Amino acid sequence: MTERADAARGRRETRDVSDPDPYEVLRVEEEPDHLRPRALYAIGENGNLWHVTFVCPCGCAESISLNLLPDDSPRWTLHEQPEGPTLELANRRVP
Ligand SMILES: [Zn+2]
Repeated sequence: MTERADAARGRRETRDVSDPDPYEVLRVEEEPDHLRPRALYAIGENGNLWHVTFVCPCGCAESISLNLLPDDSPRWTLHEQPEGPTLELANRRVP
């Protein structure tokens, strides 16, 4: 959708790849009933994160939950960076 907005405004010489509106990371102990868009809910207790839940970015309004616990598979890692959070899928373990 940003492509379309850019086209409407005319072509830009350079492209800023940083997200002007990064997702916000919210640490909570329980998943809220209603998820805000553009927010990652990092769910856990006492500094341990269990999973991360967020509204699907495709627009379908489904919620997505990804495991952060190291002993479960597939396991994701949440990285918080100034330019916004990223989620990384760990390599699958070979049995
Ligand atoms: Zn979706």
